[in-house]
Amino acid sequence: MAFVEKINKKLKKKGLNVTASEYNGAVRLTGEADSWEEVLEAGRIAAHVRGSRGVVNDCRLKGRSPETVRMPKNEDKSLEGIAPDVLVIGGGIVGAAITRELTRYAVTVAVVEKEYDVGTAQSARNDGMIHAGIDLKPDCKKVKYNVRGNKMYDALSKELDVPIERPGQLVLYTAGWQKLIFPLIKLRGLRNGIPVYPVSPRGVKEYVREPGLGFGGFMCPSAGIVSPYLMTIALMENAAHNGAKVYVDTAVTGMEVKEHKIVSVATNRGTIYPKAVVNAAGVFSDRIAEMAGDRHFTIHPRRGVEAVLDQKAYPKAKCVLGKFVISGSSGSGHTKGGGVIVSIDHNLLLGPSAKECAERENEATTREELDEVFEKQSRLAPELKRSDIITYFAGTRAATYEEDFVVEKSAVTTNFIQAAGIQSPGVTAAPAIAEDVARWAVQEVLGELRKNPSFDPVRKGIPVVREMSGETRARLIAENPDFGEIVCRCEQISKGEIIAALHTPLKVDSVDAVKRRVRAGMGRCQGGFCQPTVVRIISEELGIPPEQVTKKGAGSEVAPYPKRGSV
Ligand SMILES: Cc1cc2nc3c(=O)[nH]c(=O)nc-3n(C[C@H](O)[C@H](O)[C@H](O)COP(=O)(O)OP(=O)(O)OC[C@H]3O[C@@H](n4cnc5c(N)ncnc54)[C@H](O)[C@@H]3O)c2cc1C
Repeated sequence: MAFVEKINKKLKKKGLNVTASEYNGAVRLTGEADSWEEVLEAGRIAAHVRGSRGVVNDCRLKGRSPETVRMPKNEDKSLEGIAPDVLVIGGGIVGAAITRELTRYAVTVAVVEKEYDVGTAQSARNDGMIHAGIDLKPDCKKVKYNVRGNKMYDALSKELDVPIERPGQLVLYTAGWQKLIFPLIKLRGLRNGIPVYPVSPRGVKEYVREPGLGFGGFMCPSAGIVSPYLMTIALMENAAHNGAKVYVDTAVTGMEVKEHKIVSVATNRGTIYPKAVVNAAGVFSDRIAEMAGDRHFTIHPRRGVEAVLDQKAYPKAKCVLGKFVISGSSGSGHTKGGGVIVSIDHNLLLGPSAKECAERENEATTREELDEVFEKQSRLAPELKRSDIITYFAGTRAATYEEDFVVEKSAVTTNFIQAAGIQSPGVTAAPAIAEDVARWAVQEVLGELRKNPSFDPVRKGIPVVREMSGETRARLIAENPDFGEIVCRCEQISKGEIIAALHTPLKVDSVDAVKRRVRAGMGRCQGGFCQPTVVRIISEELGIPPEQVTKKGAGSEVAPYPKRGSV
């Protein structure tokens, strides 16, 4: 293969102890590197040479043992022998959107998620922006699915009772000369169907009280915001309502593939026999592709840290603020540069950063990372204070060396479909990716696109007491006094809302699963006051001893609290 020779020459020239060979039409890199930067460099060199299906980077990092996957603690045979038409692996926003889309058709669907709840990985650890897509290079899958997905969000919001807003994104120039590039940006917008208009330095003041950069910029009015975890939950709840079986605490551990077809899928809860398999496993999607016999890409994790600011910082910015970045072709050039995001819950988010790292599941945040994010993004709105930060988090992007999504029906394994390597803008793109993936899977199983006549697209959300008029609230409390008992004082969340969250179509039995559904514990005190009461409500409502109630699944049992009335 010509590409193998070219890559080997380039690797040698760079002095890397890495060799390229052909693998499944892709290029496979093997060898030993002294640093993670060398592993990345080898992958990027290979990705720049055309002709291969992608880069399988198997370079070992000297002295580092292979990374382990966080696995569920349970093991049983409760799923042994089940045979859904389609098995979706991964309960993030992409897996959830695909699962719901599949239920529009006359197929049986199961989804397996290794964590204690859906939407806990990348899909809970991001900005929640419905991107306009103006920063994406033309002709890639990312831009195609971003633009289509963005347009689908208004209908989704109505059907699933999940709020979205479209405040627009104001991209600010960091130097005066950058405004000369605007005609090119406008052209890109026209080509991809993305509205965009210029904003003068004075016009910027309409959106942000004290702008940090004085060069003007441009506005993308189609940019929006959504709660990414609430949307994931809503998609999956609606899928379950339409018959999909959702299994959490269930990890795929292997597959049997015969004559280019997946015959069975092994999990910690028994072996499953699906007719078709969808890979939506986020940062582990290359591992799933390997099991299915069609790995032609590699995930190199890219961390992003975000600071969450108090809701009182909200009025200082009326839209999403970003900085103009000219994307490079490697490394951190593959980021939108972050910004100041007004979240759907009116907190401000600062971030994210972008840092390549070897770990896929490291969710810890360091002081240095937080300082870097605050320092960088607060330049956009200098009024922001460090004391406005109420919490922070880190997420890991599922980046491939090609820096594009892998959304395809496998060319190697006949009943395998991939929605893999979905980094940003995956939240935006998920509904559009789901349409294509579901269609391919149904065609594989049924040979045609037969509809499910009883598909119901509507999901009703949990009543939000703090947003109700006095009259509506009084009526609700008269019907059910639990809605009048406020548990989370920061966010004004009632006992009734918490109980409602425990009885939705998915398994909800932990403090964080409740928090993602109704925001109990998301305010300034971060659950300091309400957590014991939330634990008690979960315990009483589900009949679990309080000492067995967890924060986020088995192994995270919350310390027992004194019984009501005993203190
Ligand atoms: C810091 C940051 C900011 C971002 N901001 C935005 C934004 O503003 N807008 C936007 O559009 N996108 C954004 N993104 C990207 C977006 O979050 C992702 O593209 C999207 O969430 C990907 O969804 P997913 O379902 O593919 O992956 P995930 O949410 O990671 O879900 C994959 C799931 O698969 C499960 N899984 C893995 N292996 C197995 C196994 N063996 N068995 C069973 N289950 C398994 C995992 O536990 C996980 O829950 C951001 C990402 C980051 C990290």
